Amino acid sequence: MELLLLENDMATYQKILVAVDLSSESELVLKKAQTIAGPNADLHIVYVQEPMDNVYVGIVPQSAAFSGLGDLEAQLGEELKTKLTTLGDKFGIPSDHQHILHGSPAHEIHRFAKEHESQLIVIGTHGQRGLQLLLGSTANSVLHGAVCDVLSVRIGGQTAR
Ligand code: AMP
Repeated sequence: MELLLLENDMATYQKILVAVDLSSESELVLKKAQTIAGPNADLHIVYVQEPMDNVYVGIVPQSAAFSGLGDLEAQLGEELKTKLTTLGDKFGIPSDHQHILHGSPAHEIHRFAKEHESQLIVIGTHGQRGLQLLLGSTANSVLHGAVCDVLSVRIGGQTAR
């Protein structure tokens, strides 16, 4: 009986955002999201590509020698798009529900959720402990700034990465 109530509750989520990092674990996260989605749910998958100068800040010097960074970023973007399409198609997500955004993952996920009036954000979490917990993670950042419900799908077992 309790399980039935939970399922009915979960089925009230009609607008769902699934954040995927395109690792092999994304399938687990997406599978869980589809399990709890209502039959007519509007389910979007979102990957956020971080600008390379954000990722490598302090490592890659901002000089003319690295003027090719933009090309590299565009090439990476193409490969990420291919990966997202492969994942989305495998799970029957229409192409206009597969999104690559650019910027900081948590910020973009929040922005997208607000714009699309998402009722639920689904993310993966490794259950960080110790130093990783102090430093935070994408999952923590998404959880703390969200204006809708967040489901964090446990991935990767009990141990932190
Ligand atoms: P992390 O905190 O980096 O271990 O990532 C945990 C979860 O956050 C992933 O399973 C995804 O659901 C989400 N996530 C991480 N990075 C991204 C990204 N670049 N774009 C979208 N979602 C992401």
